[in-house]
Amino acid sequence: MNLDEARQLANVNERAQRLFEDGYRIRSLDGNLHLIRKQHGATYTLDRAEKSCTCPFFTKNSGRYSCKHFLGFKKLVLSQRFHLATLSARWEAEEQAATIEQVFLSASRVLSARLEVPLCLS
Ligand SMILES: [Zn+2]
Repeated sequence: MNLDEARQLANVNERAQRLFEDGYRIRSLDGNLHLIRKQHGATYTLDRAEKSCTCPFFTKNSGRYSCKHFLGFKKLVLSQRFHLATLSARWEAEEQAATIEQVFLSASRVLSARLEVPLCLS
């Protein structure tokens, strides 16, 4: 391995760590096949059993080096799961907040309707 190759591999390693932040998402087809897609970009098929990927880097290096999709696979899956869990927790909280707000709104409507009724003091 020459210096250029070493630099390129270091770069691949670095990019593998931020796949999620760079807009990559995974869709699993079965146990070993996964589609990796970048937002507005190409879709590659990662085969974890065959240890192969259809991206240009992997093809160019004929599988001699792992591509960033391969190296960053686990982190991407975890980031994606965490993101979905955070989203669903937020939606649940928003739903509850909306329900509480509705209860308050209807309670205050009832209250203000009652206050409009003239009070009989005698
Ligand atoms: Zn790849």
